[in-house]
Amino acid sequence: MQLLLEQRGRINLTGVRDSAQAERVLLLESIAAVVAVPELRAGSSNDNALRFLDVGTGGGIPGIPLAIAYPHLSVTLLEATRKKVDFLEQTVRALTIENATPLWGRAEELAHAAEHREEYDVVTIRAVGSLATVAELAIPFCRIDGMLVTFKTQPLAGEMEEARHAIDVLGGGEVCITPFDLPELPAQHCLVTVRKTTHTPKQYPRRSGRPARQPLIRR
Ligand code: SAH
Repeated sequence: MQLLLEQRGRINLTGVRDSAQAERVLLLESIAAVVAVPELRAGSSNDNALRFLDVGTGGGIPGIPLAIAYPHLSVTLLEATRKKVDFLEQTVRALTIENATPLWGRAEELAHAAEHREEYDVVTIRAVGSLATVAELAIPFCRIDGMLVTFKTQPLAGEMEEARHAIDVLGGGEVCITPFDLPELPAQHCLVTVRKTTHTPKQYPRRSGRPARQPLIRR
């Protein structure tokens, strides 16, 4: 948190500008993923590290708090802006976070690389776009039976309805909404999870910028 606060005048790492309190909430909200992700609750009984990918991680939210809180994860921190990746590299070094690895690139491109496509157990994505957009940026990275986890505020019905087509096309299955309360947060915060059930067709994600500009919405 201290590192985030020190750098925040230089690069906008989290979009939060008002107070240290707001930044504290980001850390708590990251950890709140535990309420919706059984993989986190299962602890470290499994010998193989769970592979997490945080798409558009910015200053490392939720990826860095998750890596610190859950040492049984192996977390890749994907970010398109080089300056932010520099910050992530400094941070994992300064805090000796051994289970987090910054990765510079765009989701639309890396999701087509064999070493990343359908390789992750859980893909988190926070504050990157609408549900239809985040589905296209994140689901291609999930293995079958893996899950996408995103952070939203309610009401969500309209966004959910719009995203259903994208989720189906990309290989997503059941969608769950888990509301959670933190003393510092308004009650309407929730986690949206999507289980992956079938392979993502080769043409997705589409080329850079498309998922955000022209989400896969059936009109
Ligand atoms: N997840 C962080 C940051 C949100 S801001 C948080 O919750 O605080 C969105 C971030 O996503 C920005 O840093 C932006 O550079 C990155 N981003 C947006 N589209 C991306 C893409 N297609 N691939 C990789 N990173 C992307």
